[in-house]
Amino acid sequence: MARPYEDLSFWLEDAGEELTPRPALQRSCDVDVAILGAGYSGLWTAYYLLRANPGLRVAVVEREIAGYGASGRNGGWCSPRFPLSAGVMTARYGVDTARAVLLALESAAQEMRGVCEQESIDACFRPAGTLTIARGAHQLPALKASLAAYERLGLADRYQSLTPAEVAERVRITDVYGGIYTPDGASLHPARLVRGLARAVEAHGGVIYEQTNVTKFQGAPRPRLVTDAGEVRANKAIVLAGEAYLTRLHGLHLALLPVYSLICLTEPLTAAQWSTIGWQHGENISSMRNTVVYLTRTPDGRVLFGSRGAPYSFGSHISDEQDRHAATIELIQSSVIEWFPSLAGIRFTHAWGGPVGMPMDWTPAVRFDPGTRIGFAAGYTGMGVVLSNLAGQLLAGMIAGRTTGLESLPFVQRHSHDWIPEPLRWLVVRYVQGSLQRIDNAAEAGRTLPVDAAIANFLGRH
Ligand SMILES: Cc1cc2nc3c(=O)[nH]c(=O)nc-3n(C[C@H](O)[C@H](O)[C@H](O)COP(=O)(O)OP(=O)(O)OC[C@H]3O[C@@H](n4cnc5c(N)ncnc54)[C@H](O)[C@@H]3O)c2cc1C
Repeated sequence: MARPYEDLSFWLEDAGEELTPRPALQRSCDVDVAILGAGYSGLWTAYYLLRANPGLRVAVVEREIAGYGASGRNGGWCSPRFPLSAGVMTARYGVDTARAVLLALESAAQEMRGVCEQESIDACFRPAGTLTIARGAHQLPALKASLAAYERLGLADRYQSLTPAEVAERVRITDVYGGIYTPDGASLHPARLVRGLARAVEAHGGVIYEQTNVTKFQGAPRPRLVTDAGEVRANKAIVLAGEAYLTRLHGLHLALLPVYSLICLTEPLTAAQWSTIGWQHGENISSMRNTVVYLTRTPDGRVLFGSRGAPYSFGSHISDEQDRHAATIELIQSSVIEWFPSLAGIRFTHAWGGPVGMPMDWTPAVRFDPGTRIGFAAGYTGMGVVLSNLAGQLLAGMIAGRTTGLESLPFVQRHSHDWIPEPLRWLVVRYVQGSLQRIDNAAEAGRTLPVDAAIANFLGRH
């Protein structure tokens, strides 16, 4: 039996509203634009379409409820981050384009705050910036390279190098060797954002059908989303905004890899515990680890610690069980105490996870084909809170034939190569996931890196 939606994440439990599903689609209908998926991507697209053209008939078709996917479960980082590092972006696209991506993301983050104010969405924005640390001497070279990449992009005034003492003035974490701070980026309440956006879409005239599974889609000459209850026929466009779950649809199985990310949450800290840790401003925090970590201070004063989730499942299988992978939960909980030893004995109240969509080249895609009338936005590789807003602005513009000024960004109108078929996919992905973890473990224990470190780094880092 399906879990109650409140159980999917602390954020959904704390959404401030009953998660009673909206009515499902009952019969076939005709609209102008039909959107698969009521996460950020689908809802931002609907929102911008309706804001530009209030008379448009827009339907969003959602298999569960608005915010069921990563949009209701993420770490709450609303930061100008892209799945490719600044250095890799510069090498791949050049200085001007890499810089344009970061600036577009920062301005999208501002745009999101503006819309929330306008639409009275209380998404609990906390504009405290982003802190990246080198935890252990072995992470210093990567931290320095990252700072150098921002300097090459002419962003030195936005990214400031911090000594260990300067990091400690902000937050007291063990084994810090240096840091980079940028005032760009905020934290937010993911579920309040997605649920509020759904209401804003309805207030602007959109219709959201929940608990309605799209089983098939078709492009021009008769664009439509097909469900068991009927078809949603669209005379202008359909949009596929189902992120990792799109891999369940015929034709998209190899487009993305569903990769799990998992979060553990402590009980609210006491004032005494906070004064031991510092972290009074609530910056988003990460380190230079290969196996990504992300920390957020929640609006009600808990430590949220996120990292990789369940190992890749054969055949890109997505299931509820992978949301709560016991070995990973244990590892993340022990990391919290390693980072903040004064929290030893703290109670962990929540753990959850979800799949993110990873393209073969780690580069998201936002595209609209005027021939087939199919729009697509996915592949954010765990960094879609802000990117999905850009996707929504772009798709709404492309469908309406209106330029947004964002069209030259390198993730627009592109396709990544498909993933390799099984069983090779499972072998390669499991190898890379395991190796990156072994490299981190060896580096943190001061041991020699595994002999295959270079191969794993080459395959697994972008
Ligand atoms: C644990 C975790 C932590 C994360 N932390 C961060 C973070 O801190 N910052 C950040 O920037 N990003 C983060 N991300 C990624 C970010 O949350 C996502 O990139 C973003 O939410 C994607 O939004 P989306 O609308 O494209 O996809 P989703 O939110 O996944 O929405 C897709 C929706 O489509 C629906 N759907 C799929 N298939 C069908 C179908 N066939 N029929 C009908 N409906 C369908 C799903 O039910 C779902 O509701 C995190 C992700 C996870 C899982």
